[in-house]
Amino acid sequence: AKTQEESLFIVNEWAKRWFQVQLWDTDEGRSVGLAYFRERGFTDDTIRKFQLGYSPSSYTALIEAAKKAGHNLDYLLTLGLVKKNDKGEFYDAFRERVIFPIIDRGGRTAGFAGRIMNSQAKAAKYINSPESPVYNKSKILYGLHLARKAISKEDICYLAEGYTDVISLHQAGIENVVASSGTSLTEDQVRLIRQMTTKVGILFDGDPAGIRASQRGIDMFLKEDFEVKVLLFPEGDDPDSFARKYTPVEIRQFIDTHLEDFIRFKARMLITGSEATPTQKIQAARELLESIALMKGELKQSVYLKEAADILGIDQTILSTELHTILARNT
Ligand code: ATP
Ligand code: MN
Ligand code: MN
Ligand code: MN
Repeated sequence: AKTQEESLFIVNEWAKRWFQVQLWDTDEGRSVGLAYFRERGFTDDTIRKFQLGYSPSSYTALIEAAKKAGHNLDYLLTLGLVKKNDKGEFYDAFRERVIFPIIDRGGRTAGFAGRIMNSQAKAAKYINSPESPVYNKSKILYGLHLARKAISKEDICYLAEGYTDVISLHQAGIENVVASSGTSLTEDQVRLIRQMTTKVGILFDGDPAGIRASQRGIDMFLKEDFEVKVLLFPEGDDPDSFARKYTPVEIRQFIDTHLEDFIRFKARMLITGSEATPTQKIQAARELLESIALMKGELKQSVYLKEAADILGIDQTILSTELHTILARNT
């Protein structure tokens, strides 16, 4: 007999295929969903590679297809593919959205993200499958199954914010990239990356949310003994929108030349304007030291201490004393 987990994976696999058939083989899917992806610059090869799909506007299309295929609707409910209304009637959860399947490490379909295409609508831009016995958000990285080889080969993992960032970078030939899906970065996701490489390049959106998320990401990676680099895209851009404006060679060049060691990035974010005020400097010193305190090993810490001293123009021995105060507090 099949376990519940096996049955859920079978239903997810079936649904993924059904969303793909809707995209490629129905009038609505082609004129709405496929047109949307092509408009965004995704090639047909890319759309197939990421197994993108379309969920029609009907409230019952998936339900009817599931019944026909003999699937138990309770499984679809558990997976969040369908929901129940006040009257106890089932309805499709992802309506009139393009679909991004979320694949786990074993290549199995764990869940889905659905993006709304009408930017005017008040509904959430993305909706995600809920946690289920087969979808543990905190332990899944979007794109990992397609990135694994390239991460090992390049010995660095790029971390982006969104699904479309991963997809566009792939299309530009940059395959060592993943995104956290449906959550902010978790410790488990950091450890997953740590199994493949000790270097990370955080590629975040050039907006306040991206800056905040990258600051948080830096410390999480430092704790796991990563070499951490950061690249914030120009204001208003993310890796996807940027990738659409440039050639693959230009994109790679941009990343290579703009990836910055975390300490320089962090200092730059803390010290704005040409001349830092004393208050800014003190604040910056404290925050840099907090990050250095997370690093493993005295050698690493002392190298970064010197770097911080140079950047801030503060005596290294004073910073060192301050670092040891933080370290003593942290233990
Ligand atoms: P797009 O290019 O399609 O607009 P994006 O990835 O650039 O998507 P952002 O607004 O930068 O979207 O958000 C980054 C990520 O955060 C998304 O890929 C998605 O995983 C998640 N996200 C964004 N908006 C929502 C939302 N309303 N609900 C849930 N998750 C969201
Ligand atoms: Mn953003
Ligand atoms: Mn974005
Ligand atoms: Mn985007």
